[in-house]
Amino acid sequence: MGALRITFSILALGLAGSAAIAKPVTEADLRQHVEILASDEYEGRGPGTEGERKTLVYLEDQWARAGLKPAARDGSWYQPVELVRRGPKQANVQFFAKGEKLRIVSDDILLVGKDATYKADRLPALFVGHGVNAQGKVAADVKGKLVFLLADNADFLPPDMKSARERRIALIDAGAAAVISISGEQYDFPIYRRAFLSRPITWVAQDRRADLEGAVSPQYMVALVTAAGGDWDKLRAAARSTDYAGQSLGLTVDLDVASDVEYIRSNNIIGKFAGRKPGSGAVVFMGHWDHFGICRPEGAEDRICNGAVDNASGMAVLTEVAKRLGRTKFDRDVYFVGTTAEEYGLIGARAFAADPAVQLDQIKVVLNIDTVAIAPKGAKVAIVGRGKTDLDDDIEAVARKLKRKIESSTDANAYIQRQDGWALTEKNVPALMVGGSFADLGKLEAFLKSDYHGPNDEVAETLQLGGAAEDADLHIELGRYFADTRKYKPKKAEKGAGE
Ligand SMILES: [Zn+2]
Repeated sequence: MGALRITFSILALGLAGSAAIAKPVTEADLRQHVEILASDEYEGRGPGTEGERKTLVYLEDQWARAGLKPAARDGSWYQPVELVRRGPKQANVQFFAKGEKLRIVSDDILLVGKDATYKADRLPALFVGHGVNAQGKVAADVKGKLVFLLADNADFLPPDMKSARERRIALIDAGAAAVISISGEQYDFPIYRRAFLSRPITWVAQDRRADLEGAVSPQYMVALVTAAGGDWDKLRAAARSTDYAGQSLGLTVDLDVASDVEYIRSNNIIGKFAGRKPGSGAVVFMGHWDHFGICRPEGAEDRICNGAVDNASGMAVLTEVAKRLGRTKFDRDVYFVGTTAEEYGLIGARAFAADPAVQLDQIKVVLNIDTVAIAPKGAKVAIVGRGKTDLDDDIEAVARKLKRKIESSTDANAYIQRQDGWALTEKNVPALMVGGSFADLGKLEAFLKSDYHGPNDEVAETLQLGGAAEDADLHIELGRYFADTRKYKPKKAEKGAGE
C-alpha cells in the first residue's frame, strides 16, 4: 500500500483548500460511502481478504482528506491484529470397543483441529458430563484423552461456569487432548454446524484450544454409547450429580482430521487530530469496518454479506464526522479508530484496548458508531451505556441543543455487550453508543430478525439514512463538546489526567 499512500497524500494536498464551512450532514453524503463500502467489489469486507485491502485504502484516502494523521503506535495508519480462521475439511473417525471397530449410525459429528492436520491412535474416550463440578473444578482425569462435554447448562454449575465456552477452556487447561461438545437444547446441533461451517475467526492472542475440538448431536451419543454396549440415558442421568467426575466409555478412537487453518494479519485503522493542549486528554470515535465477507457457499444466488447497515453506515458517519471536525482545532486529541473483526467478538476493539494508541486513562469518552442506518429522521436519542458513566447529562444537553428528543429508558443497554465500546467499558474507559438506532428497539429488532448478518444487508432503495445523518450531526457536536476543555470538564478527579 506504500505507493497508494503517496498518491493519496498528493490528493489530500490538492483538496485541502476546498474545505467549506460546516453544514449539516446529508443522506447523500453518507450514501456515497455506503454504496462503495457495501458494494460487491468490496466483497463484504472480510478480515484478511481483498475486501479488507480495498476498505482500508478507501478509508485511509477519505480520512487523510479529512485532515486526520496516521496515529497507530508505529506512526502508520495501521495497528496489526493477528487472527486465525479455522474450519472443518475432512475427518476420518474410527471408534473401538474391546478391540472391535464400531459402526456409528449418525453423521452428526464436526471436527476441527488446532493445526491443519491432527492424528491420534487409540485415544481413550471419556464422558465428563457438564465438565466441572459444583465448585467449578474439573474432577475427571482428562489428561491426553478425548472428552465428550454436555454443552447445556446445569443448575449446580457456578455462575462463571454456566457458559459452555468456560467449561471447554477448563477442560483444555486440565490437559484434555480433544474436547467434543454434545449439543442440546441451549446449543442445538444446527447452530454448531452453522458456526463450524462459517469458519470462525479467533484472535491469536486469545487462542485457547485443544488440539482437536468438535461437536456431536445427542443422537450421535446414543448411537456411539449403544454400539459400545452402554446406556446413554444412564450416563446422562449420572452427570446431574454435583460431584460427577466423569466416566470412561470403554472406547478408544483413531482420528485423522484435516482442517482449514489460515493465519490472517488484519488491521485496525487509526487516525488523529492533534489537540492544542497536549496532556488534556482525548476523545475517541470508533466503528468497525469489517463484516462477514463472502459468507455463502459456491452456487448460492448471493454469496456476499455486504454489511450496508452493519457497519458501512457507521463508517460513513465516522468519515463525515471526521471531515467536519477536521475544519477546526480542538484542545484535546481526537482519535478515529476503525476496528477489525468486531463480528467475531469485538477482536479489533479488544486489540486496541490491550495496546492502545492513546493511554486509556487519557480517554475522556469513546463514542462507538455501529448499525446506524435504522431510524428515520426525528428519532429520539438513546444511550447504550446509560447510567454506566457520568456523561449522560452532558450528552443529553448536546442533543437538546440540536432539538433532539431523549429516550430516557435504559432499554438500549441490552446491546451494551454487543458493540465495540464494551471492550473499553471492560477496562473502565467511559464508552457509549449514542443515537437514534437504539431508541426505537422495535425497528432495530425487525432488522436483527431479517437482513442482519445475511446477504440482504446491502444497498437498496429502502436503506434508511435519515436518522444516520442526524446522528452524524449529533456526533460532530459531541466531538466539539468533549474535545473542548472549557466545555467539558471531567467531574471526578482522575489520576494521571494532567488537568
Ligand atoms: Zn454485526
